[in-house]
Amino acid sequence: MMVEIKQEKGEPLFLSELSSQAVAVLSGLPEGEGIRILDVSAEYVQFWGGERDHWLGASPKIVHQASANEQLICQLNSALACGKLSLGCSMSGLDHADEAPRSQAPRPLIEWRVTAMSMPGYADNVLVLVQRDITQRVEKEAELKRLATTDMLTGLMNRSRFDYLLKHELGRLNRYVRPFSLIMLDIDYFKTINDSQGHDVGDQVLRALATLLENNLRTADYCARWGGEEFMILAPETSLDQAAQLAEKIRQRISSASFPGAEHVTVSLGVAEATHSDTPKSMLKRVDNALYQAKESGRDRVAC
Ligand code: GH3
Ligand code: MG
Ligand code: MG
Repeated sequence: MMVEIKQEKGEPLFLSELSSQAVAVLSGLPEGEGIRILDVSAEYVQFWGGERDHWLGASPKIVHQASANEQLICQLNSALACGKLSLGCSMSGLDHADEAPRSQAPRPLIEWRVTAMSMPGYADNVLVLVQRDITQRVEKEAELKRLATTDMLTGLMNRSRFDYLLKHELGRLNRYVRPFSLIMLDIDYFKTINDSQGHDVGDQVLRALATLLENNLRTADYCARWGGEEFMILAPETSLDQAAQLAEKIRQRISSASFPGAEHVTVSLGVAEATHSDTPKSMLKRVDNALYQAKESGRDRVAC
């Protein structure tokens, strides 16, 4: 949200009226005693403590850590002196507020911005410091991102996230020679489970299978729901042979596991290792072909 700056009846700005953000007007002249506070909003006083009078003429607090704050003020001073912080220009950053005592909540995240501007009631240009708590906004954004990248039924990453990851890993392979392999897994005769036991049981099988996969992979491995009853595993630092062993282990675990409501569940798996010339498309085609072979040669097996 932008801070709207208005003049109240010819008086200097009455900052506490402006917004719920902490605002301070700072002198915009580099010489003399350096940057000083000319006026503060009630929120600024509330945020940093003390009395309003104590802040007027004082050096501003922009971030919590004392040495970082001093450094910032020096930077502002030199930016003013060399004309970098001219009218309309701003500097901004993030700061973690101090933890509330015995608080379980994460430390609030504060966004700050210093903008050089001219303001009614002040003869010279001033710097306006605005600080606002963006903890909730950042948390909401993280939650939205999580929802956009997660498969709702199984909680695994979804296909679009996996697409991104695959592109990223192929980029890493080209730059740093980091091998990795893909395992594509498809439940055998899943339609029969749905048809005989019902869609809800089918859903339960998908969820249980996702849990089983997660429990049998290393934390460095990625597992996604690729589509209906298809899953994809990306195993970093894993050769074709190692990936085939992992796929075989998974096949055996699934074959010997009991799934609520469903009889014997088996899967077919295709395995492919990334090569330098691979694009996401070529690699997916290879792993899909391997899966097709596993299906064609009888299911409940691994093909490379
Ligand atoms: P194959 O061994 O050749 O893989 O046979 P299949 O029956 O597993 O394969 P097919 O592609 O014929 O059927 C897949 C089924 O998966 C059809 C579809 O209804 C079901 N399916 C897809 N998504 C979901 C889902 O989210 N929940 C449930 N319960 N079923 C789903
Ligand atoms: Mg399928
Ligand atoms: Mg299937």
